[in-house]
Amino acid sequence: MLKVASRCNLDCDYCYVYHLADQSWRAQPRFMSDETVAATAERIAEHARVHGLDAVSIRLHGGEPLLAGPERLGRIVGALRARLSGLTEVAVTVQTNGVLLDEAMAAFLVDEDIGVGVSLDGDRYANDLHRTYLNGRSSYDEVVAGIAMMRRPEFRSHFLGLLCTVQLAADPVRVWDSLLDLEVPTLDFLLPHGTWERPPPGLEPGDARTPYADWLIPLFDRWFDAPARPVAVRTFESLLHLSLGGRASHESFGLGPIALVVVETDGSYEQVDSMKAVDEGAAATGRGVFTDPLDALFALPTVTQRQLGLDALGERCRACEIVSTCGGGLFPHRYRPGTGFTNPSVYCADLYALITHIQRRLEEALERRGTSLAAIRAS
Ligand code: SF4
Repeated sequence: MLKVASRCNLDCDYCYVYHLADQSWRAQPRFMSDETVAATAERIAEHARVHGLDAVSIRLHGGEPLLAGPERLGRIVGALRARLSGLTEVAVTVQTNGVLLDEAMAAFLVDEDIGVGVSLDGDRYANDLHRTYLNGRSSYDEVVAGIAMMRRPEFRSHFLGLLCTVQLAADPVRVWDSLLDLEVPTLDFLLPHGTWERPPPGLEPGDARTPYADWLIPLFDRWFDAPARPVAVRTFESLLHLSLGGRASHESFGLGPIALVVVETDGSYEQVDSMKAVDEGAAATGRGVFTDPLDALFALPTVTQRQLGLDALGERCRACEIVSTCGGGLFPHRYRPGTGFTNPSVYCADLYALITHIQRRLEEALERRGTSLAAIRAS
């Protein structure tokens, strides 16, 4: 994940970059320089060569990455592809808030073969709970216009879909219907970041309530029971896939190793940037593209811990009946001062309720086909 811009044109008040524990963005350059891009390309090339990687995936991120503008983005992507061509396949995507997705930007992204994901939290009410400009003005109309632009026939091939952060204050069915109305190819629901020390909205650490599962389960049922799936939903598909014995394709679930590193705008390596929710400096590694190969990150305990699967989890997760699907949840969500990351997720009760519901629904569907989860896993 390349942080090509460190500032944003929105001021979403739940953003882990600007509004949670870590405030290191203040010291970052506004944009990634050509020198940093060149050094990053060298490190990726080195890593691909050493490990014989036949493909790498590069996600342009921020802040708001489109603030870098077509000229700078074109130079960044051109430099990466030029260095990596012939060595490994390169897929480039961008995750944007959508505000700057006008016709010229959409044409540029398609010409450069950059896949586009957009963040939107649902209907106008849900989105404007948090995703606003600094002065509180709604971003909804501009984002929906950007999505409509990416759905045009000439740009649709590069539209990846939407990321929607769950807002408990919003009606889930209204959020679902409004997202379906946008006719996007895929969507995913994200849980707001939080830890046992700084719990997410609506949760007290250790309480037995399951507000996030209660919000998501009706949407899973609508999706699962639809005669034809109206949209691919990454979380639901990942949880079904893991329940059937598959491998994780989603860093929030399962026991697979994490194959992601963040390169900040100044070239420093960071761990998954949601670690910024944990504490000031929690995502930092003290290493970067100008001095260290990517493999140097394996010297860091929290990086190796994220590769260890079951062995990295605390006692309660290791004994949990759904651990192979849940995986203890997203790594930063396990943090508690004193015990670090060896705790269940702060979302434990929600994850348990959601996953056991999904597995129950799956078991019923399999039974109607004369088989069972156990039989499929065994095969
Ligand atoms: S449901 Fe809770 S105890 Fe079970 S694996 Fe997930 S976080 Fe751990």
